[in-house]
Amino acid sequence: MDHELRGRSVVITGASSGIGRAAALAFARRGARLALAARRPGPLDELVVECRGLGAEAIAVPTDVTDAEAVARLADQAQRTFGVIDTWINNAGTGVFGPYQDADVALHRRTIEVNLLGTMYGAAAVLPIFLRQGHGTLINNISMGGWAPTPFAAAYTASKFGIRGFTASLRQELAPHRHIHVCGVFPSIIDTPGLDHGANVSGKRLNPGPFFYTAEDVAAVFVSLARRPRDETAVGWPARAAQVAFALAPMPTEQLMGLVMRKALGRADPGPRTDGDMLVPSDKGTSVDGGWLAAKKVPSARRINKAVGIAAVAGLAILLASRAAARGDAARPID
Ligand code: NDP
Repeated sequence: MDHELRGRSVVITGASSGIGRAAALAFARRGARLALAARRPGPLDELVVECRGLGAEAIAVPTDVTDAEAVARLADQAQRTFGVIDTWINNAGTGVFGPYQDADVALHRRTIEVNLLGTMYGAAAVLPIFLRQGHGTLINNISMGGWAPTPFAAAYTASKFGIRGFTASLRQELAPHRHIHVCGVFPSIIDTPGLDHGANVSGKRLNPGPFFYTAEDVAAVFVSLARRPRDETAVGWPARAAQVAFALAPMPTEQLMGLVMRKALGRADPGPRTDGDMLVPSDKGTSVDGGWLAAKKVPSARRINKAVGIAAVAGLAILLASRAAARGDAARPID
């Protein structure tokens, strides 16, 4: 059990699969008290049982985050159950992939409603509670797409740029409150069922990666922020690289993203057009992972980074040792 997090109450939206589910399990292992929200009651109930099995208190609160009143009820129920809300994680998210004009505007609207408005409703519901309590940490799960634009995911990019601005503004409004924190998290590509849940109007089969981080990597960041809040945290170096590239050279970065995405789409196999579960929740995809790493038979990005890091250190050590040996040879007098 984790002394810092045991008994702390945490609300997680989008908990029925992917990153939210991994986060619920990560907090449950540390003895937190959890209010778990998403639209699908079945997967939430199963998750509650799993969290309780890990020794945590947990309740399921089926909630559609596009409904501000439902989000307010989620906050109310969490507070009445636990007496306090220490951490609120706005994680629910979705998106539509493909040429902007090929998707029904209802899908674009839904992207903004779930990602941006859902996050804003979460903040509106919990901040009065934080202010009454005098403490609390709000974590908004954004995306590397909030730092650099993703062509063919224009509404998603708009929503995530919006959340980044919203998060930064709130942080400064609340700066006088020393014990209230607003954190933004920027994951790189994560192996979750997210791509199957979103809409795809491109007529092409999506084939992301092969450089995937795991939902557990993001969950570990949420846990560390609940303990020690930080303003902006990247999950994986590609997210940080996207931030730096777009900040230093916005136009070349934008053009490069366009080129890469157009090439990838051009090479992709044909695939069905689908609205995913954006408008109507589906039974599909209730797991933490999306099966991408397993299907591609590749290790996670974190493991690749670690292996490359070890290889680099070993290479450097060998280089330094051989240079030292060469210097030793040169210094030795010739017989
Ligand atoms: P998932 O599809 O697995 O998770 C999305 C979650 O949001 C589900 O639990 C879903 O549950 C919930 N959700 C969707 N619509 C609503 C709604 N209207 N109301 C309430 N909950 C809703 O994907 P991920 O885990 O990948 O996504 C989680 C977050 O991480 C998103 O914000 C996403 O943008 C972000 N992200 C993901 C990345 C990735 O590569 N996977 C990279 C960067 C950021 P239900 O259907 O039951 O409502």
